[in-house]
Amino acid sequence: MLGNVTASMAMAVRVAQLQDAGECRDDQAALAKSFCTSRARETVAWARELMGGNGILLENDAVRFFADVEALYSYEGTPEINTLVVGRAITGVGAFV
Ligand SMILES: Cc1cc2nc3c(=O)[nH]c(=O)nc-3n(C[C@H](O)[C@H](O)[C@H](O)COP(=O)(O)OP(=O)(O)OC[C@H]3O[C@@H](n4cnc5c(N)ncnc54)[C@H](O)[C@@H]3O)c2cc1C
Repeated sequence: MLGNVTASMAMAVRVAQLQDAGECRDDQAALAKSFCTSRARETVAWARELMGGNGILLENDAVRFFADVEALYSYEGTPEINTLVVGRAITGVGAFV
């Protein structure tokens, strides 16, 4: 979980730096979005799992993050679409259908 959070923070900070410098490309933003939200989804699942049955009680917060992450996972581009954006950038071939 700490590895996911640390890697996601590093990528998000770098993309923010590029954005501030006016140098952020769409595929870089798409890679960060796809990577960070996928890792976040994995991380909240582990958080809920390590709490056992208590992980699904609202008072313990872990399950609340499930809903938050599911929203982040889909809006401003789903992983499928962001992956297609990244794939087009690194191969020069668009696989959109
Ligand atoms: C909390 C929240 C807030 C939002 N806020 C806004 C907002 O402020 N403004 C706004 O305009 N929209 C907003 N949206 C909408 C959001 O942009 C869409 O939900 C998102 O783009 C996915 O579109 P869709 O839900 O129509 O799914 P669909 O397009 O129906 O996609 C369904 C599934 O099919 C996949 N898919 C679709 N097309 C392809 C393809 N060509 N190739 C491969 N896979 C594909 C998708 O990745 C997804 O997994 C919000 C969504 C959420 C959940």
